[in-house]
Amino acid sequence: MSSQIDHLLNETRRFAPSAEFAANAVADASLYERAAADREGFWADQARELHWHTPFTTVLDWSNPPFAEWFADGELNVAYNCLDRHVEAGNGDRIALRWEGEPGDRRNVTYAELTDEVKRLSNVLLGLGVERGDRVAIYLPMIPEAIASMLAVARIGAVHSVVFGGFSADSLRARIDDAGAKLVITADGGWRKGKVSPLKPAVDQALADRNGSGIQETVEHVLVIKRGENDVEWTDDRDIWWHDVVPQASSDHEAEAFPAENPLFILYTSGTTGKPKGILHTSGGYLTQAAFTNRVVHDVHPETDVYWCTADIGWITGHTYVAYGPLANGATQLLFEGTPDTPHPGRWWELIQNHGVTIFYTAPTAIRSFMKIGRDVPQGFDLSSLRLLGSVGEPINPEAWVWYRDIIGGDRAPIVDTWWQTETGAIMISALPGVTETKPGSAQVPLPGISVDVVDDAGEHVGHGNGGLLVITEPWPSMLRGIWGDPERFVETYWQKFADKGYYFAGDGARLDDDGDVWLLGRVDDVMNVSGHRLSTAEIESALVGHEGVAEAAVVGASDETTGQAVVAFVIVKSRYMKKNGVDGLGDVLRRWVGEQIGPIARPRDVYIVGELPKTRSGKIMRRLLRDVAEGREVGDTTTLADTAVMSVISAQVK
Ligand code: ATP
Ligand code: MG
Repeated sequence: MSSQIDHLLNETRRFAPSAEFAANAVADASLYERAAADREGFWADQARELHWHTPFTTVLDWSNPPFAEWFADGELNVAYNCLDRHVEAGNGDRIALRWEGEPGDRRNVTYAELTDEVKRLSNVLLGLGVERGDRVAIYLPMIPEAIASMLAVARIGAVHSVVFGGFSADSLRARIDDAGAKLVITADGGWRKGKVSPLKPAVDQALADRNGSGIQETVEHVLVIKRGENDVEWTDDRDIWWHDVVPQASSDHEAEAFPAENPLFILYTSGTTGKPKGILHTSGGYLTQAAFTNRVVHDVHPETDVYWCTADIGWITGHTYVAYGPLANGATQLLFEGTPDTPHPGRWWELIQNHGVTIFYTAPTAIRSFMKIGRDVPQGFDLSSLRLLGSVGEPINPEAWVWYRDIIGGDRAPIVDTWWQTETGAIMISALPGVTETKPGSAQVPLPGISVDVVDDAGEHVGHGNGGLLVITEPWPSMLRGIWGDPERFVETYWQKFADKGYYFAGDGARLDDDGDVWLLGRVDDVMNVSGHRLSTAEIESALVGHEGVAEAAVVGASDETTGQAVVAFVIVKSRYMKKNGVDGLGDVLRRWVGEQIGPIARPRDVYIVGELPKTRSGKIMRRLLRDVAEGREVGDTTTLADTAVMSVISAQVK
C-alpha cells in the first residue's frame, strides 16, 4: 500500500474552536481520559444518564462474539426515556417538535403533548393486538405522527421497521415481508415538491394480490393518518383511520420495563453497494450511545438550542438524530416535511432564519447541491443563529467543507464530520466541537469509548501516514445485534474478514495522517487499482471538485487492457461556469488538472460531463452503476435509486 497517493493529506487548513465555544461546550477533553482509563465504566456512566426501571449490574457481555450484550440485566423503556421523564422533571411545556409542513403549515408539539399522543397510540396498538416483539412497518412523511409512531411501538416493546416514504410499493413489500410486519402505519399522502405524493396506494399495492404468491400475509391492519387529503381506497376490515381511534383512546398508559436487549427496530441499509440488509438494533445500548453522541458531538443544550437534522426518518440518521437522540436529551428540534428547493431554492435557509436554528446536521450531497446553485441564495437569509454544523453520509471533500463553514457557518461555527453507519447505530468517528482542532475533509478521531484502527489485509495496523481498511476493534453499545433473520450473513459480512482479531470490518477504506487522524477514502469496493497503484474515489473526486468549474464528481475504475483499471470520471459542471466558458475541451482540462493535483497516474482516462449522478434515496452516489456504464455493461439493480430514469440519461450522455 506504499504506492498510495496522498492528495487529501496535503490539506493543511486547521480550525480551532473559539474560546467561547470551548468554554460553553458540553464535552471537554477529560472524556477521552475517562474512557481510556476504563472503557466499560465510561459507557456505564453514560448509560446511567438514562432512566432504568431496573438498574443494570453488568456492562458488556462479549462471551459469544460477535453477538454482544450490553447492560443485559437492566430494564428500561425507551419511550419513557424520550418522553415521560422530561414531563416528570417539569419540562412538559418545552417544545419537542417545531414542525413545518411543505405548504408552510406549522405545529409546535410540546413534550407533554407528544407524551400524551404516544400513550393514546400505545393503547390503540395494544387494542389492535400488537404485542411485544411484533413488527410494525412505518411508511410516513416527516410529520409529528411519524415520531409518535416510532415511540409508541417502542413503548409497548414492539419492533419498528421504518420504510422511507419515497420507496415504491415493491420496496415496501420486500421490507414488510422480510420483517413479517403485523401492522402498517401510513398516511393518505404527504407533500413533496409542491404536490401531494400518495402513500396509501403504495401500501394497497404492496398488500394486493398475495394469493398464489406463496407469501403468507402477515399484515392484519393498516392505520392511516390523514395528511395529503388525497382520495384513497379502503379495505374495511383492514384499514383504520388514525383520527377515528387515536384521539378517542385513553391517555393512561404506564410504560412497562423491558430488558436492555429487547429489539427496538429493524432498518434496511441504504443499498448503495447492493441489496439492503435488515439491520437489527436493541434498546439500552442503542439509546445510551444515541443520547451521548447527540449530546457531545452536536453539543446540545436542551434549554436554549433549536436543533435541526435534515435526515428523513427512513434512514438511520433520522432514527438516531431525529427520533431517539434529541428526544432522549429533551431537546427542541425542527421537523420539516418538504424538500430543500420547494417552493424556492432558499427554503432551508428560510427555515433556519425563521425558526432560529442553532445546530444544523446535513449531508455532503446537500451541501454540494447548494454550492452548485451559488452562494447568493443562502446569503439572502439571516443564518447568524447557527453555532454548530454537522455532516454525515459520505466523505465531505475539503472544498465543500470550507464552503459550508464560510457561507453557512459564517466562518464561525465549528463543523463536525461524523462517520458512522446503519450498522454502528450512532456516531463513531468525529471531532468534539469544543475540543478538536478540525481539518477539512477528515472525520479525525474516534469518540471517547470507541476504538478503531486502519489495518492492512492481514489486520495489522498500517501506521501513521498510511492507508488501509477501517475496522472497529472493540464492541460498542449501539452496535448492530444482527441482520434480521440471517445470522450467517451477519457474521460473514462484518466479522469473517478479521475473525482471528475479532475486528468489525466496516467496508470503508481510510488513511491515518501523521497525527493519527482518520481520513475516509470511500468504500473498499470502489477503490481502483491502476497499474498497481491503489487510488481512492474520494481523493480524485475531491481534486475534481477543487476545480472552479466542477460542482460534483464521481469516479470509478473501469477495466483497462493496459493498466488493469482506468479512472473514469463523471462530472457535473457549475451552471455559472457553463454559461461563461461552455464545456468544450473541459474534459482535457480536468484530466490535466487531476494530473497536476494528484499525479499522472490518477489522470482520468475518460471524463464525461453529465447532468446528474445516480444517487440512493439518501443522497449517496451509486458508483457500481457508473462502473456498469463505464464498462459498457447493462446497468445493474436500480431499485434503491432516487430517480430511476437518471441512468438512461447518463448512458445516453456517455454515448
Ligand atoms: P449499503 O451498506 O446497503 O451499501 P450504505 O452503506 O450507503 O448502504 P448507510 O449505513 O446509510 O448505508 O451508510 C453508511 C456508509 O456511509 C459508511 O459505510 C460510509 O461509506 C458512508 N459514510 C457515512 N458517513 C460518512 C462520513 N462522515 N465520511 C465518510 N463516509 C461516510
Ligand atoms: Mg454500508
